[in-house]
Amino acid sequence: MGARIIVVSNRVAVPESPRAPVAGGLAVAVKAVLKNRNGLWFGWSGKTDDQPDPELRIVEMNKITYGLFDLSTQDFQEYYNGLANRVLWPILHYRVDLQEYSRADASGYMRVNRRFADKLSTFIREDDIVWVHDYHLMPLGRELRARGSKNRIGFFLHIPFAPPDILQTLPSHQDILGSLAHYDLVGFQTENDRDNFGHYLVTQGARQIRGGAYEIDGFRVRVGAFPVSIETAIYSRLARNAGRSPLAKQVKNSLGGSRLVLGVDRLDYSKGIPQRIKAFERFLEDNPQWHSKVTLLQITPKSRSEIKEYSDIEAEVTTLIGKINGRFGDAAWTPIRYVNKSYSRTALAGIYRAADVAMVTPLRDGMNLVAKEYVAAQDPGDPGVLILSEFAGAAKELDRALLINPHEIDGVATALKRALEMTAEERRVRHSPMLDYLMENDIKNWADGYLSTLNENSQSLGLLSGIRAFFAGTPEQRPSLAREAAGFRN
Ligand code: UDP
Repeated sequence: MGARIIVVSNRVAVPESPRAPVAGGLAVAVKAVLKNRNGLWFGWSGKTDDQPDPELRIVEMNKITYGLFDLSTQDFQEYYNGLANRVLWPILHYRVDLQEYSRADASGYMRVNRRFADKLSTFIREDDIVWVHDYHLMPLGRELRARGSKNRIGFFLHIPFAPPDILQTLPSHQDILGSLAHYDLVGFQTENDRDNFGHYLVTQGARQIRGGAYEIDGFRVRVGAFPVSIETAIYSRLARNAGRSPLAKQVKNSLGGSRLVLGVDRLDYSKGIPQRIKAFERFLEDNPQWHSKVTLLQITPKSRSEIKEYSDIEAEVTTLIGKINGRFGDAAWTPIRYVNKSYSRTALAGIYRAADVAMVTPLRDGMNLVAKEYVAAQDPGDPGVLILSEFAGAAKELDRALLINPHEIDGVATALKRALEMTAEERRVRHSPMLDYLMENDIKNWADGYLSTLNENSQSLGLLSGIRAFFAGTPEQRPSLAREAAGFRN
């Protein structure tokens, strides 16, 4: 057995749990990482209580060990709803106007990160590799180092990383974002995100060294772009079968011959849903010949409903759709079908396959797996057309999509017309290289690429991890850590 890989993320999705399927790219990616590896997935169970069970629960399933613990209601409010989703999420998506910072939330965020570190430290073994995921757990590496961990510890950010001027609006940015320098490797979705992090570190006094790494306060952190992906081959097969499923047939039949345009997003202000709907409205205004011949199906599971900005976006989307359906619809045609339920992976694959066009129009998105799934799900002989925002990480790879600026409503409306009227030949020419690319660059490739970079040996790394341990420890720990770094053991 090789070294164990401990994946740490905010939320852990134990399979076959009675809970509804998780909508979110992270769960899909982590599951793929742990498949066929000697691995363990560690994090919050998803349960909150006023008096949470203090014990860590260990569950074994399909050769994966799950380490789960509960959070208190206060933890959940301050760490998850508060700093993570009311502050870090908007800022890292370039929406400083939506952040709602409070010191109580910032301290709750740090407290929960310390709790993660306390629990994790009890069962990390010397040769374990720790891979921490996403913005909820940025300071976890530093907390593990403070508890004496000398393991390889990597971090991957699934969401965008904004430029320094934006990040500096976060009141405690040094403490939160600066803590990323305590990891061995910090991975991002795109080169742009990676470079923004580098620029941020330089504003904090870092020096760029060989191989694109940075040194700051005695720490060395390597950085890299590792675009997350999907299980392309499996997904393509799934969609081929699901395309013939009763659900896919039912959807097709219900359209009565009208063409299907699809949107699939969590209900989130970063996804550009109102802009997309306005573009669809513009398309209908400009193209009466398409009335009754096209339907937009917008699948939008609700998320983070306790946060005001999310109920605001919900109200905005519902009002817009009602207005457009009232204005253009008739007794036999509803231009926009809007559903808030979450579909299973298989059901969604069938719907992707049935859709003539997918509109993926985020204002800012780390990657956007829906775009990749849509490409993988198409019939290569008769593929649909992907309309993709240039501000989604996926646009860097899926460059044969119709790339649009979601803020330009006219441009998106024109792209939709072009997509609906595109020849089969052009559709194939655009789709085929994107599918080939995704077959090569699938989720396995992402996990292997990240983990092999994390494992790369650099000669000076041993010494640097000693220096790092010295700085990370509490003052009482420092003398012994320094001796260990110099090769002495107690
Ligand atoms: N998804 C799903 N059911 C739904 C809607 C979405 O399973 O009804 C999945 C979708 O297949 C994709 C993920 O949720 O894998 C969304 O990932 P993405 O990167 O597009 O956005 P995120 O929600 O992570 O911001």
